[in-house]
Amino acid sequence: MTQTHHLALREVSIALDDVPLVALDARIGPGEVLTVMGPSGSGKSTLLAYLAGFLDEAFAASGQVILDGVAIQGLPAERRGIGLLFQDPLLFPHLSVADNLRFGLPRHCRDKRARVEAALAHIGLADFGDRDPATLSGGQKARVALMRLLLSEPRAVLLDEPFSKLDTQLRQEMRDWVFAHLREAGLPSLLVTHDHQDAEAAGGRLIELSV
Ligand code: ADP
Ligand code: MG
Repeated sequence: MTQTHHLALREVSIALDDVPLVALDARIGPGEVLTVMGPSGSGKSTLLAYLAGFLDEAFAASGQVILDGVAIQGLPAERRGIGLLFQDPLLFPHLSVADNLRFGLPRHCRDKRARVEAALAHIGLADFGDRDPATLSGGQKARVALMRLLLSEPRAVLLDEPFSKLDTQLRQEMRDWVFAHLREAGLPSLLVTHDHQDAEAAGGRLIELSV
C-alpha cells in the first residue's frame, strides 16, 4: 500500500496585523516526517491551518502549497487530500468504533465491512467494533484516530502536537507507532510540536520557529 506522495511549501508566509508570524520553505518526500518546532504562540497551528485550508481570515498568507506537483492552496479543505491529527482524537461520540473507522473510508469503496474489520484487527481492537468510543483508553482512541485517517487515503498528513494529551508512559509508545505507520504508508508528514521528544521520535529533519 506504499505510495509516493510529495508535499512542498514554497515561500509560505503568514502575517497577523501586518506582523510576520511564520515563514517556511520546505519539501517533504514520501514517508518522510518534517518536524517544525516552536514554543506556544509561534504560529504552528496557524501554519497547519493554512496548509489544510481553514486559516482564519484574521491572518494574511501567501506562498504555494504543492501536493504531488499540484498547487492546492486555492482549494477548499475537503478537496486537498490532506489528513489531520490533533491533540484530541476527535472521534464521533454518537458512532461506534467501527463506524468511526467506516467514516474514514472513501464513499465509493467496496468491501467496507471487511476493510473496517481488518483495520480493527490491525490496531489490536478486533473485538471493539461495537464499542462507544468514550469507553476506550486514550491510547486506543489515538489508534482509532490514526487508522481512520489512513483509511481516508490522504496524500499527506499534518500532525498538531498529537501526543501531548497522552500520559508519559503511553506517549513514547504512540509516537513510535504513529511514525512507523506514516512511514509505512509512504506519506509525507508535517509534525508541529514544542516537544523535543516528539521531534526525536519523528526521526526526520527539524526546523525551528521563533516567536
Ligand atoms: P502555536 O500553535 O504555535 O501555539 P498559534 O498558531 O495557535 O500558535 O497562534 C499563533 C499566534 O496567532 C498567537 O499569537 C495567537 O494568539 C494568534 N492567533 C491564533 N488564532 C488566531 C485568530 N483566529 N485570530 C487572531 N489571532 C490568532
Ligand atoms: Mg498550536
